[in-house]
Amino acid sequence: MDPASRLYLLLERIGHLLRVEARQLPEGLDPIHAHALTYLARANRFSDTAGAVAAYLGVGKGSVSQSLALLGRRGLLTATVDPQDRRRRHLSLTRKGKAVVARLLSAGGCAAAAATLGPAADRLEGDLTRLLAALQQGHGGRTFGVCATCRHLVTTGQGLRCGLTDLPLSRAETAQICQDHAPQSPP
Ligand code: SF4
Repeated sequence: MDPASRLYLLLERIGHLLRVEARQLPEGLDPIHAHALTYLARANRFSDTAGAVAAYLGVGKGSVSQSLALLGRRGLLTATVDPQDRRRRHLSLTRKGKAVVARLLSAGGCAAAAATLGPAADRLEGDLTRLLAALQQGHGGRTFGVCATCRHLVTTGQGLRCGLTDLPLSRAETAQICQDHAPQSPP
């Protein structure tokens, strides 16, 4: 079997096991619900809408609306109307929603498996990040990368700014992911 096929099968199996972990959460969530929560836990203020969640997950807006409504009913997220644009609703995780994400990320089987890799976990993360970037480019999709790595990020005498929106950014916001992220250079 060629390396690309072996890699595909490995990633497919890992993805399957992560979906099983999401289904085993006591909250009784489907994987898509868990993925929406992990996305919103990291999304910045330009990317915390239902449309951005749909684009990130690569699913239709109708399907995402149903998922977000369910998460709202379970008390895992809330929506706030944008004071500048009342048609826009910002989604954020409740304390319960954040606890679900924390359990998935740091207390699940993936965290335990990664701990067995030691320093190799960092190298693997770098390799997988490059693989993801190449895949996203192949699909013509958005990168949804971390703001600090975006070519629109500008440092001025007054602080950090987004060159796309011309709005100020806090240091904490540059650690979040963004639907308008543009990589510095192609992978
Ligand atoms: S600098 Fe880039 S990643 Fe950051 S908010 Fe602007 S467009 Fe988004």
